[in-house]
Amino acid sequence: MILPNDFDFTQGNLQDFVDCPYRFYLRYILRTTWPALVVDQALEFEQRGQAGGRFHRLVQQYLLGVPEARISALAAEDPLPDLGAWWEDFLTYVPPWLGGQRWVETTLTTTLAGQRLVAKYDLILSGEDGSLTIFDWKTAQRAPGKAHLLERMQTRLYRLMLVQASPTFFGGIPAAPAQIAMNYWFATHPENSVSLPYSQAAYEQDQEDLTRLVEVVCSATREDFVRTDDHKKCRYCVYRSHCDRGVAAGDLEGYDLLDEDTDSLETLPAFEDLPEIEF
Ligand code: SF4
Repeated sequence: MILPNDFDFTQGNLQDFVDCPYRFYLRYILRTTWPALVVDQALEFEQRGQAGGRFHRLVQQYLLGVPEARISALAAEDPLPDLGAWWEDFLTYVPPWLGGQRWVETTLTTTLAGQRLVAKYDLILSGEDGSLTIFDWKTAQRAPGKAHLLERMQTRLYRLMLVQASPTFFGGIPAAPAQIAMNYWFATHPENSVSLPYSQAAYEQDQEDLTRLVEVVCSATREDFVRTDDHKKCRYCVYRSHCDRGVAAGDLEGYDLLDEDTDSLETLPAFEDLPEIEF
């Protein structure tokens, strides 16, 4: 195995491997930094990314009980005008869904194929009816459809890990996959939230596929980390000039920011600080 000793699997690095094994190799094994823009509107890209982080913090404070008026004042003063609109739409659309016990910014860890996996959730809601609902806030410009979201590593890993961790939320009693759903809410498309209920069949498929995926990554040699054949994946990849896949960055409009505000390596807490959920 050529993975670093301190390596943890996350939805982000698994998605990188699925999108392009060579990108995974450069980013997580060689830890190569490359001086290229992800999109051609670098300043706007950076501003939107930072505003997404601020929006997540506002929502976190709201869910933890900070008075709405104080948060609204912060949102109104934000340097990116979009953020004030995201916040207003959040207050319009989301609070009616928030009945139940809240688990805000919760990190779960587990093992699969003998490897550590880490997932950070914006919100988990446990309902009196036995439901467990994952909420994920997105500030990307584009709101992808259900089919795309179902394929994402984030959806597959987060729902699977919550099944495994469910006894923690219900006094030691495990939840069935059918009690779990993952909801995406898009600040830029507030009326188009997507709910993805889980099932026993999907859970078994995820368990099989993700176990195999982790085993493939762990057993890969240098030669196995090949460049993707899908050149569309290179358009927004910082390594494209290194790979001779073009030098011009893609445009911001087309960039899929889905994972930029979730579990980047910088935002994950140190592994030793986390409770590990065994399965
Ligand atoms: S530029 Fe393309 S081939 Fe190279 S690492 Fe990025 S996605 Fe992979």
